[in-house]
Amino acid sequence: MNIEDATKQLEQMRQEAYAYTDKGKVASYIPELAKEDPCQIGVSVCLPDGTILSAGETDKPFTLQSISKIFSLIVALCQNGQSYVFERVGKEPTGDPFNSIIKLETIKPHRPLNPMINAGAIAVAGMIRGKDVEERLHSVLELLRKMTGNPQIGINEAVYCSEKKTADRNRALAWFLKDSGVLTGDVEETLDLYFRHCSIEVTAKEVARLGMVLAADGMDIMTKERVFPAEVARICKTFMVTCGMYNASGEFAIDVGIPAKSGVAGGILATVPNKMGIGVFGPALDEKGNSVAGVKLLELLSKEWKLGIF
Ligand code: GLU
Repeated sequence: MNIEDATKQLEQMRQEAYAYTDKGKVASYIPELAKEDPCQIGVSVCLPDGTILSAGETDKPFTLQSISKIFSLIVALCQNGQSYVFERVGKEPTGDPFNSIIKLETIKPHRPLNPMINAGAIAVAGMIRGKDVEERLHSVLELLRKMTGNPQIGINEAVYCSEKKTADRNRALAWFLKDSGVLTGDVEETLDLYFRHCSIEVTAKEVARLGMVLAADGMDIMTKERVFPAEVARICKTFMVTCGMYNASGEFAIDVGIPAKSGVAGGILATVPNKMGIGVFGPALDEKGNSVAGVKLLELLSKEWKLGIF
């Protein structure tokens, strides 16, 4: 299929998915996110040669939110190695909402079940090294800048402050992790780092490029340099399949069948091994926190282009 036909198809699928934007609600527990217009849906596809096809709102910046959990995990794995990381955070899906505290207390050892839930990502943020929060943030920003080719990637201050002011639930998770010995060091600093990771701003086009680097097992598609080890990419893609779409990951694996990670600002990063990265932005969310129109769009795309990996 040529680029023009593929772009037309993307636009048709986007229009079909648009009808679902009024079936969800924008996240409001972070007040700044509640200001977003729910009636947006955009999709970008990045191919192995760096070509990007797009339809809809794909230049509109939004915050990574939980999509950042993949990139903090990459940095933590590269800095500490697998055994250090997986002594402190597990590899199992929870079946619970992303910010749930229940299994932290009821399952022993008291460590987060996986790095894609909030407790797990806060534990992972605690593993990122550096002399202060700026330096620790820098390693994740640098990774994203390299992967997207955009040296300007930074955080959205308004979203960061908004989350920091209202994050009582995440604070509870972090202090529980401190009590159980998973977090050591300064808890407020690690929380601050986690909020900054969540507020990193990107566009759907950039998310597609991030997805393509994961699809290429950690190789920079433009420079052909390795950004992170293939083994780390394999671990991330596996987590995306088992826990990337919150407690709807099983349903998504059956209906769409592509490794993906969503965030409450409405982004979804999807990665089709060796073939393409996909970035979606649609801020109206379903009750589990996934973009309603975004999931629909990925379902259409996966069926139409036969992208499912199973
Ligand atoms: N910053 C959000 C939180 O911690 C991220 C949640 C998400 O995107 O799933 O609640």
